[in-house]
Amino acid sequence: MLTDAPPRKANRAGFLESDQTRTLDLPQDGSLLTITKSIESAMRRGRSTDVRPTCTDFLKAASEFYEVPACGFRVLAARPLRVRERWTAELFGDYTPETMLIRVWMRTAVRKAITSFGTFLSTLCHEFCHHLDFQKFGFKDSWHTRGFYERAAVLYHHARSTPLKKLFWVPVIGGRWRIDWQRTNRGA
Ligand SMILES: [Zn+2]
Repeated sequence: MLTDAPPRKANRAGFLESDQTRTLDLPQDGSLLTITKSIESAMRRGRSTDVRPTCTDFLKAASEFYEVPACGFRVLAARPLRVRERWTAELFGDYTPETMLIRVWMRTAVRKAITSFGTFLSTLCHEFCHHLDFQKFGFKDSWHTRGFYERAAVLYHHARSTPLKKLFWVPVIGGRWRIDWQRTNRGA
């Protein structure tokens, strides 16, 4: 995971705020976890028609909790030829702010292997965090900042009920950051 480079002056304040907002409020009940389990079993059946309603439930519950407009959702069998994600080349989903539509696909482009449940859910949380950036935080754009990735991870681990790891970052050229996976996995 690599962050975007900071934008030019005009949007810099929003970018910094996104970078510094490292966590997200979470529902205190287990509603998302219950829905996530049904996404997992629908994925095991391997058909996008089974997966779609469970993801819609997830996004509806999350949108209600964060008090943002519901977003549209499509699950595609395979990655489309043209991908809208305008921020970086993302492999498993995209989000269009103008139409508030999230698309996630179940198969990878190259080997047509089915996306793992973990990757699929993490993509869903990632794209939903783009929705939150515009609709909850009111950012002018939805940058992949350290804060963005951390918020997406908070939501993902909550939804899966897995322990949240502290992410360690290393600076790279151009004001960008990448995750130091060794330290992150070691936890120190
Ligand atoms: Zn993204």
